[in-house]
Formats: sequence, structure tokens, C-alpha cells
Amino acid sequence: MNISTSQALFEKAQHFIPGGVNSPVRAFRAVGGSPVFIKSAKGPYVYDEDDNEYIELINSWGPMILGHGHELIQKAVSDAIQHSFSFGAPTRREVEIAELITTMVPSIEKVRMVNSGTEATMSAIRVARGFTGRDKIIKFEGCYHGHGDSFLIAAGSGAVTFGTPDSPGVTKGVANDTLTAPYNDLDAVQKLVDANKGHIAALILEPVVGNMGCVLPAEGFLEGLRKICDEEGIVFIFDEVMTGFRLSKGGAQERFGIKPDLTTLGKIIGGGMPVGAYGGKAEIMNWVSPLGPVYQAGTLSGNPIAMAAGLTMLNYLNEHPEVYTQLELSGHKLVNGFTNSIKKLGLNYTINSIGSMYTLFFTDQAVTDFPSAKSSNLPLFGKYFHAMLDRGIYMGPSQFESMFLSTALEDGHIERIIEANEESLKEVIG
Ligand code: PMP
Repeated sequence: MNISTSQALFEKAQHFIPGGVNSPVRAFRAVGGSPVFIKSAKGPYVYDEDDNEYIELINSWGPMILGHGHELIQKAVSDAIQHSFSFGAPTRREVEIAELITTMVPSIEKVRMVNSGTEATMSAIRVARGFTGRDKIIKFEGCYHGHGDSFLIAAGSGAVTFGTPDSPGVTKGVANDTLTAPYNDLDAVQKLVDANKGHIAALILEPVVGNMGCVLPAEGFLEGLRKICDEEGIVFIFDEVMTGFRLSKGGAQERFGIKPDLTTLGKIIGGGMPVGAYGGKAEIMNWVSPLGPVYQAGTLSGNPIAMAAGLTMLNYLNEHPEVYTQLELSGHKLVNGFTNSIKKLGLNYTINSIGSMYTLFFTDQAVTDFPSAKSSNLPLFGKYFHAMLDRGIYMGPSQFESMFLSTALEDGHIERIIEANEESLKEVIG
């Protein structure tokens, strides 16, 4: 495959941008080689600067649920830009999207728009701290909640991909206020809570993890956490930046029937535009400025173009339940196909999936937490990644990521992915 234009761009990029990219995982460091530079995308396809076509499994790390360049969203954005790009003043669509979010995600009574998932999680723990008057938070090893200082402790996604789950630059004071527990380990959480009675403001988790690869909550785990939080007056936060509006209309919380106190949302609500949000119980959100004393602000928050894209996409999802039926079916077909190939080739790799999210791990262990995710054979994943890319399948370039399907994928595309997977596995196991 010719990727010479991408290679030249990457070469140049490294002179001007740290590592040549504006977000670490994009650099392909974990899998080797040069990243492909994307020029355009439509429906289930992305095209690179050398005009290679790939079937999309990243989908902007989640938001392109309806595939790329959906015509309704495109029209909403082009209509919106006729009226300028930013006002820094309240607009009608902000009210409409807030109302819609509270309808689709019933645990959210009030919501505040921000500009990224990172901002959403940072703000959510600030308000939880303000509300409870406590300092400490609990997070889970391998969960990623953006690059806020408090979360770069045993962090997943790019942080673990690049060997910096505890980043330099985070002060000891901040790090001391973040307690970590193994994912799916209720006893460990109970012990942390007992040892820090009256000091824990919030417990935050990905209700389904995307950032150590796809990892599911064990039976009873989310219920158990809800109970602990209730008993101890801890604000229970679901980070649904990846799962919100994807695993169901109301996110993972609807799917698992658990109500968190606060929810953080991200890229998905902007239909791919830079947006995030946090929301939840009114009694907590009423602490947010200007109503309450917890300060949080943003010049570009609720940006009119992003709101136009997000509102159109959320309205579509709200009115088209068949989107979720299709995502489930596509997920099932793909995972069945992968499972058959794995068996046929006499392999025992683990595939974790739920709805339209999946990760194939190069390990025979069940992957339920960070250590088991890290038992995956990473060099083998790197080879597999490139074998898939060569066959025109564009995956997240790290073992510690989930893949995301879109409704733009038709049966033919799923079959091509399944075939490419089987051929790639054959190639890498030799
Ligand atoms: N939380 C989760 C669960 C995420 O997956 C991410 C990013 N992938 C974030 C927070 C941070 O979002 P952003 O990159 O928009 O800051």
C-alpha cells in the first residue's frame, strides 16, 4: 500500500508538533510504522492523503454512530454557519439539547455543556467535591477519564499505551487525593472506603470500559458500587464519554438499569464536533456557577455549530430506535464471525464485546480488569493491526482501545471485516 504522502506529512509534522500528532495514540507508536493522515470520510469509509480507502472501526473514537458525513447533520451544520460561528452568549439550541439530553438520559436533571470529555470529568469531580465538602476520589485502574491531573493515575488508553499511566507533572498532592481500585473488584472498593471514611467525594468509572480495550462490568459490580456510594454519601459518576447514546439511547446506565448521580458525556453529543457535558441530579448540579459556588466556565461552551450538529444527531437517535437494533445486529454478526475464525484457526484469543463495541485481545485469559488486559501480546497486536490496515480496515492503533461500529456498515462491510480478520490472524500467527 502506498502511504508516501502520509509518511512525508508525518516527517514534517514531527518538526512542529510534539510527536507529530495532536493526541498521542494517533502516532501509531504502539503498533509501529507511520500513521495514515486522513483527508476525508463518508459513510463507513475513511480516505487517506494517498487516496487509500479503509472501512472505519474508529469512527472518531465513538461519535460517528451514524457513519461519516450524515446528510442531516451536514445540513444542520451548513445552515448554522450562515449565522456566524460563535457568540459567547446563550442560544436556543443549548436549551433544546439540554432538554433532549434530560429526556434521553433520565438520571440527568440538569446538564452543563463543555468542550471535551476531559473538561466534563474535571468539572464533574469539582462539583462532587464542592457538594460533599470532601477531597478524595476513587477511580479504577485502566479507566481513562481524559487528561485532567486527578485522572492520570493508573490511567488507560494512550496513557498506558505509552507507558505513562501515572504521568510526570501531576503533583503528589493531587495524586494523593486519587485512590485506585482494580476494575470489577467490589471488595477492594469497600476496603478503600472503609479506610477513608468521610473523605471520599466521588467514585468515577467507565460503566463499560473502552480504554483498556472493551471490558464489561461483572454481574452485580455496578449495583454494588451504587450501594456503597449510597451508604457513604459518595457521588457516583458514570463516565459515558464512549458509551453514552451508543450502548442504548440512554447509554450504559439504561442498558444496565443503574442510575448514577452524575454522568459525563463527550464527543458523541457533538456528532463529532468538540463537545462534552456533565449533568445529573439537580441538587448537585445546582452547586455549579452562577447558581452555586463551584466555578466552571467556557467561552466556546455550547458553541452554536457544535450544538447544531449534536442536536440533530441526538434527535435522530431519539426518534429512530432501529439505529440500536442495527448496531446490536452488526455487533453480533461481527463477533460471531471473529469467534468462528478464532476457533477455526485453533486459537484461544479473547474477544470482549457489547452492542457496537468490541476488542480482540491477544491473550487466552478472560479480560476483566487492567492486569488481564495487559496480559495481551502487544507485538502480536501490532502485527495484526498492520495486517488489517493493509486489507483496508482502519482500527484503533492500540490494544487498549475499543473498536466502534456505525450504522453505515452494511452486511457486505461486516463480511469484509470478518474476512480481513481471518486472513490477518493467519498472517500474524505464521
Ligand atoms: N472519558 C472517557 C471514557 C474517554 O474515553 C475519553 C476520551 N477518549 C475522555 C473521557 C476524554 O475525552 P476527550 O478526549 O474529549 O477530552
